[in-house]
Amino acid sequence: MEKNNIAAIRIYAFDIPLRADFNISGSRDGFANNVLVSIETADGRVGWGEASPVSRVTGETQTTCLAAAKKIKAALAGRDAAKLSSCLAAMHRAVAGNPTIKSAFDIALFDLAAQHAALPLCEFLGGRAKPLPTDATIFLRPLDRVIESARNIAAAGFKTIKLKLGHPSRDDIERVRVVRDAVGTKIKLRADANQYWSRDYALQTLKAIAKFHVEFCEQPLPARDRAGLRWLGERSPIPLVADESLFTPRDARRLAIEKWADILNIKLCKSGGLHGALPIARIAAGANTPCMTGCMNESRLGLTAAAHFAAAMDIVKFYDLDSFLMHTADWIEGGLQICAGKVLLPRAPGLGAKPSDRWLAKHKPVR
Ligand SMILES: [Mg+2]
Repeated sequence: MEKNNIAAIRIYAFDIPLRADFNISGSRDGFANNVLVSIETADGRVGWGEASPVSRVTGETQTTCLAAAKKIKAALAGRDAAKLSSCLAAMHRAVAGNPTIKSAFDIALFDLAAQHAALPLCEFLGGRAKPLPTDATIFLRPLDRVIESARNIAAAGFKTIKLKLGHPSRDDIERVRVVRDAVGTKIKLRADANQYWSRDYALQTLKAIAKFHVEFCEQPLPARDRAGLRWLGERSPIPLVADESLFTPRDARRLAIEKWADILNIKLCKSGGLHGALPIARIAAGANTPCMTGCMNESRLGLTAAAHFAAAMDIVKFYDLDSFLMHTADWIEGGLQICAGKVLLPRAPGLGAKPSDRWLAKHKPVR
């Protein structure tokens, strides 16, 4: 067997306990039910990737990810991992859709390719490691807890807070007001309504919260209301970010070139990994539309891939790479760290992150 040939693929269910107060609009979960994938080549290199399915965004769950992963595994077995594009094409032929589980395989293949080139992934992608100032997120909690979180985030050195809006009690304006009051004017504040608003309610709310200096608002309207996003964008005093509306380069073309959104939020779990994310960033750069790199509910492993991508792409100007702060266990070795609100990348070749030997000793791959 040639040294670059894929000798083994392992798929693991990866269940991470969440802090009890985790809640975004429309979901309430005790665990991040993720999937880890490792791809080993004949010369003993191992690439790692993570999928963090959020069904209300991509329609995928851990169960569907595991089922699709088995088909992708069969399609990749024995292939030359150095032929990255043909491996990815084989994956897309084997399974349509399913961008989240595909992202795990894509990241593992890029990890192998960057290891082979003896470069950290961000350099393999043509960029350089740099500290990335990330926000920290406040979820839909009671107002007194929102205030407490805002103070804790500012005290931990973060310069930006991302506030989830869209609570059924419709107290969005009050949420923004109490956070601004709690942290003063030196902290940036961004909002995310996760598709929960109607057009009229969104316009009214955006006009009302503009006085609290909100940097931008993510996905005010349902993803299916594309025309609504454009309508709102023409009227909103606050820049709008497409998140759940953006999956593919085709979406990016419409959103960026036709100016349906001011900013694009790229997530590897939506784009099918780096191979889909790179053309989105290029399209955005061509249209002079800044990007954000966000996350689902990844551990530091999946987040490290997103951070390498964000560091490599100059058009990515905003960073939301904080999901692991909501986890009560961390089984990743290497990987990114957050220090005083800044994401720091590992310097090792490849992704530079893997699950610990202790975790691996206790968990068997799925059959
Ligand atoms: Mg969002």
